Amino acid sequence: MGPGPSDVHPRILEAMSRPTIGHLDPLFIEMMEQTKSMLQYAFQTENPLTMPVSAPGSAGMETCFANLVEPGDKVIVCQNGVFGGRMKENVERCGGTPLMIEDEWGRAVDPQKLEDALKANPDAKIVAFVHAETSTGAQSDAAELVALAHQHDCLTIVDAVTSLGGTPVKVDEWDIDAIYSGTQKCLSCTPGLSPISFNKRALEKVRNRQSTVQSWFLDLNLVMGYWGSGTKRAYHHTAPINALYGLHEALRILEAEGLENAWARHRRMHNALKAGLEAMGLSFVVDEAHRLPQLNAVTIPEGVDDAAVRNRLLNEFNLEIGAGLGALAGKVWRIGLMGHAARAENVLLCVSALEAVLNERGAPINSGVALSAVQKVLAAR
Ligand SMILES: *Cc1c(COP(=O)(O)O)cnc(C)c1O
Repeated sequence: MGPGPSDVHPRILEAMSRPTIGHLDPLFIEMMEQTKSMLQYAFQTENPLTMPVSAPGSAGMETCFANLVEPGDKVIVCQNGVFGGRMKENVERCGGTPLMIEDEWGRAVDPQKLEDALKANPDAKIVAFVHAETSTGAQSDAAELVALAHQHDCLTIVDAVTSLGGTPVKVDEWDIDAIYSGTQKCLSCTPGLSPISFNKRALEKVRNRQSTVQSWFLDLNLVMGYWGSGTKRAYHHTAPINALYGLHEALRILEAEGLENAWARHRRMHNALKAGLEAMGLSFVVDEAHRLPQLNAVTIPEGVDDAAVRNRLLNEFNLEIGAGLGALAGKVWRIGLMGHAARAENVLLCVSALEAVLNERGAPINSGVALSAVQKVLAAR
């Protein structure tokens, strides 16, 4: 129950253990086509350029920036946690000029600040933000931020690494230009692949660049020779065959459950966990309206040793929860309910184990009430 990698579904591990076939084998190419169309479903898009990059979420981030930012481009980056900071570095390394809009950690991105920045910088070309900040558990209003960016003729780059499969991500309805995610969070697959989707506007920018993309490996003009449509495919790199078996299986599981059902399951497990933690007297970092169900950041009670509690949970109860990152290190725990980990048995284990460990250490919590609060939520269907 950390912030990723999440529990990998056993069916995915089984799929990954199957014999490795060639990356141009007709059967494999058929599987690639299925994977692309199931990714379109997951992203809620009809973008033909929807595919997994052969590397983790960070490479999906880099694919978006490397292909869309040209030297000299001004890019507005909205930062409200760790991952927005990485976007800034990506812009700089592509020769662009980042303009930072900062919000407090734990808050959603403020649309008013973005609008002010867009008005003050009519030469901005791109707006980038993180939809679901894994470092804090805050969710921003992607539809509203994208609409503002478009009113000022900017393309948008959206990080959906933690949101995809856990909370609604609607690429076409929200008109997102370029988006990336990861396999190891709410898709419950192993780490190492990064689904991306580019719309027509974004693809046009990639096709009409003045300069070549500085990364050979991530240059979509080249990658599309392998992942693009049609039967004529050329070798670009040897695809991570077995990892792609895993993603294919993960997407089949998602399709069978149904996206809306997956979102509802994450929400329900979050409500159960929240009931237990709050009954104990713990409080959340993010206000209710912007809280991610799949990433629960709670404040560590006064005087409690962060690492000691996490070690005890891991060694005694076989339960992993996440530490705080950056500005929140030592101050919060990040409890993940991602993908296959978002199950009743995990919520019950987490709440009872945490209560036991906090009691052992004499922390000031309410004892003996948390589990029944969890059960009440689980019983109400
Ligand atoms: C995990 C994460 C990433 C990076 O993904 P990796 O698979 O670790 O490279 C990027 N952005 C967000 C919001 C994330 O949670």
